[in-house]
Amino acid sequence: MIDAKDRNALGTSVIEQMSLNGHEQVVFCQDHATGLKAIIAVHNTILGPSLGGTRMWMYRDESEALRDVLRLSRGMTYKSSLAGLNLGGGKAVIIGDARKHKSEALFRRFGKFVDSLAGKYITAEDVGINTRDIAFVKMETDHVAGLPEYMGGSGDPSPVTAYGVYMGMKAAAKERFGNDSLEGKTVVVQGIGHVGEYLVAHLVKEKAHVLVSDIYEDRIREVVKTYGVQAIGVDEVYDVPMDIYSPCALGATVNDDTLPRLRCSIIAGAANNQLAEENRHGVEVMDKGILYVPDYLINAGGIINCYWEVIGYNRDAALKQTEEIYNTARHIFHMSAAEGIPTYLAANRLAEARIEAISKVQQGF
Ligand code: NAD
Repeated sequence: MIDAKDRNALGTSVIEQMSLNGHEQVVFCQDHATGLKAIIAVHNTILGPSLGGTRMWMYRDESEALRDVLRLSRGMTYKSSLAGLNLGGGKAVIIGDARKHKSEALFRRFGKFVDSLAGKYITAEDVGINTRDIAFVKMETDHVAGLPEYMGGSGDPSPVTAYGVYMGMKAAAKERFGNDSLEGKTVVVQGIGHVGEYLVAHLVKEKAHVLVSDIYEDRIREVVKTYGVQAIGVDEVYDVPMDIYSPCALGATVNDDTLPRLRCSIIAGAANNQLAEENRHGVEVMDKGILYVPDYLINAGGIINCYWEVIGYNRDAALKQTEEIYNTARHIFHMSAAEGIPTYLAANRLAEARIEAISKVQQGF
């Protein structure tokens, strides 16, 4: 999602682009021997060290990579703040083809760059990066999170993310239907991958009427067989009558094409950047009478799990903190109703207010 501010930043200097959204530090990494070209962006460390994954992608050029890393790192600051974590926001991108340009040496060199930030940035997996790659990064730095259990980490974050989505959905049901039970509610889960399948399990247990869609037939067959849910077509998702739409596949599925078609009371899913244009579609969703649970609030279970890995892993504590998504969502709905603002904006203000307040605590000594 590139907002107007970012678009205006095209063609401006790096420091100007950083200053637009208050980024603290950007590190450009180059290594001829391994072919490494990477950018690490630290957006904000008021709440704690910046944490966010490394993405490997064939960016058209460096300016596209820079825009992406600036946008993603800022998003991490908001996500961790709203989740109540003592973490700031950071992200890294490696410019390259994940199918062609990977090597042990490249990831170890990248690990040395991460290490040079001495803990100000903690990395993890993201698009294009797998466990094997991150194991190479870990050989050169301890500032890595979200590791699999066999490497001493907290393992797959998806069950925790799904639990948070379930909690956020229940909070929205309470707000919209006066009761947080999902029994008998029709929920469409779009994308039954890691998070989607765990979410389906919670919903089925609560006797919701679950409809699922996925681009892979084998995924559908498996989930329909295991949970007894009903399958619908990939495009049918936007046209069936339902109580809750749960995007758990791609971003930007709430857009000019789908919004006039969507017949739901609530949008509550795991996908990142669900609103194609945050400002415009955030307002349109509200005007249509749909309650939108902000994506970076409801899908924070994964980062909460990572945080507990950083401070000493405790699964129960991670789940307990993830459960708080329920109360934060309720708070955001009340703010939104009281101030007549869309829920995404209420979430942004709450995240900013926490950073502002804690920055004053830190100035105290
Ligand atoms: P995943 O890749 O395991 O699952 C995504 C599923 O969506 C796949 O089964 C895929 O086939 C399906 N899909 C893709 N395009 C589709 C379409 N047009 N219609 C229907 N289905 C489609 O990913 P995941 O880990 O389950 O994550 C789901 C979403 O949640 C992603 O957007 C991810 O960024 C976000 N998220 C995940 C986590 C986590 O802990 N895994 C945390 C935060 C956010």
